[in-house]
Amino acid sequence: MAERQALLDLSKEEIEELLVSWGQPRYRADQVWRWLYVGLVSEIDQMRNLPAALRTQLGGQFVVTNVSPVRSQRSADGHTEKVLLRLADGQTVETVFMDYDGRRTVCVSSQVGCTLHCAFCATGLGGWIRNLSAGEIVGQVLYYARLAKGGPPGGDGSLGRGGSRTAPTTAAASAQPITNVVYMGMGEPFLNYEAVRRSIAILNDPEGFNLGARRVTVSTAGIVPGIERLGAEGLPIGLAVSLHAATDELRNRLVPINRKYPLAQLIPACRDYTERTHRRVTFEYALIDGVNDSLAHADALAQLLHGLLCHVNLIPVNPVADLPYLPSPHERILAFEKRLRERGINATLRVSRGADIQAGCGQLRGSPRECETVVSA
Ligand code: SAH
Repeated sequence: MAERQALLDLSKEEIEELLVSWGQPRYRADQVWRWLYVGLVSEIDQMRNLPAALRTQLGGQFVVTNVSPVRSQRSADGHTEKVLLRLADGQTVETVFMDYDGRRTVCVSSQVGCTLHCAFCATGLGGWIRNLSAGEIVGQVLYYARLAKGGPPGGDGSLGRGGSRTAPTTAAASAQPITNVVYMGMGEPFLNYEAVRRSIAILNDPEGFNLGARRVTVSTAGIVPGIERLGAEGLPIGLAVSLHAATDELRNRLVPINRKYPLAQLIPACRDYTERTHRRVTFEYALIDGVNDSLAHADALAQLLHGLLCHVNLIPVNPVADLPYLPSPHERILAFEKRLRERGINATLRVSRGADIQAGCGQLRGSPRECETVVSA
């Protein structure tokens, strides 16, 4: 049987066109849309106010979602969970859910694997396989939205052999269970621009999932044309840039895409983004022992970002098996942060979440590893 398409891949207009072409009244499209993004159903049969014949017709060609959970793990503190999701073609990606400071954030992947090969990141180690579709991105958000709302997880609801599911501990049932979505999982969102943009549009819809643009952050390793394109959309979407170094010489080594888009292009593109969107840019800076963490590095960073509407997130680098990098000692991190502040740069030290389940920044590989243990519910 031909693969059934996911309804999550369709825009509201496309659903409307489809249903009208089947001789249905237009309001049926609104009903379907509400079931998907307000009702958060995972099965077409749960769309109770649709005529049975229409549900059957829809079910012949479509499923709600093409992502289904294989297994999930929760961090020891209970506030971070990650799930391995299987896609229709058998590829897998990881998605992370974080529940703290009053926010319920889903961190989505945008590609299976990654082409960029940042020196300290696990995702690129297995190479790049393919881009995700908009529906596969939206499906990651809805997986956790259903859980946070207390419903079934989606897909076929099963976790397959050896799997287990753990609902987020503190996610209270809520009309809008997810407060933030960050494109900081596997892959480079700006190398899959169309699907990423389309997924944001779907999630934004006020009559559907209703996640405001301000609650979405797209993170890039520095694809300048992507920053320019997103800025030109005129939406206040958050932008994060994975900087990690303040000179081309060092950044070329840590984030090799810098050779193509050096700092002299990247920083003006960020400035332009702040002017267009009136949003400050977040710069991610992973502190790596002996590599980018001296006071001289802090000074160079402060100089680079001088006068820019921005914020620096400092993160001790998460260790990745097979990679040689270690986090900076705590005192050096504090000294780095202090120095940036003295130089007038907003900086905060981010607590690393979920590193115990390899769910921290740069630790997502998208395939189960032998050393991982499954936390049972
Ligand atoms: N490709 C995009 C989206 C991925 S976001 C980007 O690079 O922004 C993942 C974030 O984790 C990026 O900021 C990345 O630089 C960071 N990261 C990667 N490996 C890391 C590690 N080992 N420790 C801490 N952060 C890491």
